[in-house]
Amino acid sequence: MGPINFAKVCVALRATKENNEEPLKSEMFITTCTKKEKEVHTDTQVAISELRNRQSSGETADDAFRAVFEKEQPGRVKKMAGESYENATNGGAKKEFNPDERIRSGFAYFKTEKYDKDPELYDELAKDQSPKFLVFACSDSRVCPSHILNFQPGEAFLVRNIANMVPPYDQIKYSRAGASIEYAIVHLKVENILVMGHSCCGGIKGLMSIPDDGSIECDFIEEWVKICSISKAKVKREHGDKDFTEQCTILEKEAVNESLANLLTYPFVREAVMNKSLALKGGHYDFVNGSFELWDLDEFNNSHSVHSNSCKTDTFHGTYCPVLFQVSLPFVFRYTHFTICT
Ligand SMILES: [Zn+2]
Repeated sequence: MGPINFAKVCVALRATKENNEEPLKSEMFITTCTKKEKEVHTDTQVAISELRNRQSSGETADDAFRAVFEKEQPGRVKKMAGESYENATNGGAKKEFNPDERIRSGFAYFKTEKYDKDPELYDELAKDQSPKFLVFACSDSRVCPSHILNFQPGEAFLVRNIANMVPPYDQIKYSRAGASIEYAIVHLKVENILVMGHSCCGGIKGLMSIPDDGSIECDFIEEWVKICSISKAKVKREHGDKDFTEQCTILEKEAVNESLANLLTYPFVREAVMNKSLALKGGHYDFVNGSFELWDLDEFNNSHSVHSNSCKTDTFHGTYCPVLFQVSLPFVFRYTHFTICT
C-alpha cells in the first residue's frame, strides 16, 4: 500500500456525510490509521465502534488502540491519537452526542463484523428461530445477557424488565409477561428458563426501600417490584442484622428464587417441567467482581414436603416453596453454586 492520500480520504469521508460536511479530525485519523483498502466509511465506523466498545468495557486507550490497529501508538502522535479517539468515541469533543450516528456506526460494525461474516447463520435465522433459552434479565444497561453470556442471535429469547422479575400467573395484571412466557414455552418450545439477577440492582434497592407502611412515591416502579415482596420479608426476617447493602445483595438472589417459583404458576411451564422438557435455572451476575453464579431447580426429595403451608423451611439457596401460589409440586430449588471468572 502506497502513501496515504489524505485529500482523497477526506473526499471519500465527506461523501459519506449527509450534507457533505468536513470529516472530523478523529475520523480522518482513524481512517488513515486503518490502512485497509476497504470502503472508507465502513472502516471508519467499524474502528470507531470497536474503540468505543473496548473503552466502554474498561480497556485503556492504549490497549484499545493496540487491539484495533494491531500496533502500539506511535509516540509522536500519542497525544493526538488520544485526543482523536477520545473525540471519536464521544462522537467528537466539540460536538454533541449524536444518537443517530451512534446507531448507524453500531449497525455498521455489526453488519461488517458479524452479519456479513456468518451468512450461514443469518440465512438459517431468516427462516425460523429455535432458541434454547428464555432469559429474564434486568433492564439495567450493564447486564445485557447477549454480552455477558455470549448468546448469539437465535440462541436466547429475552424478557427484560426492572429487577428481572417474573410475576405470578395473572391474565389481566401481567399479560405482558404471560404472553412472553407462553410464546417461548408453547410455540418456541425452549428447553431452559434462566432468571438472571445482578449486583447493585436498582430495582431490588427500590423494593428493599419501600417503607413498612407500604407508602409509595412512583407511579409504577414500587408496584412492579412488589412482585418479590415475599422475598423481601424473608430477607428482613433472616438477615435483619445485616446492613442495607448486604440485604440487597441477598435479595437480588432471593428474588430470583421467588421468580422461579412464580414460573411454576403458569400451567404450560408446570407441565413442561413435570415432563422434563424444561429446566428452570437461577443466576446472578456480579459485575463488581466479574463472577456468575448458577443454580437449578431439582426434583424434590421425598423427605421434604412442599405441601405444607410453611415456606420457611430452608435458608436462602434452599427450598423455595411454590405452595404460596397455590401450586403443589414435587420440586425444590437446589442451590448448586459455582462461580465463573472470579
Ligand atoms: Zn437491576
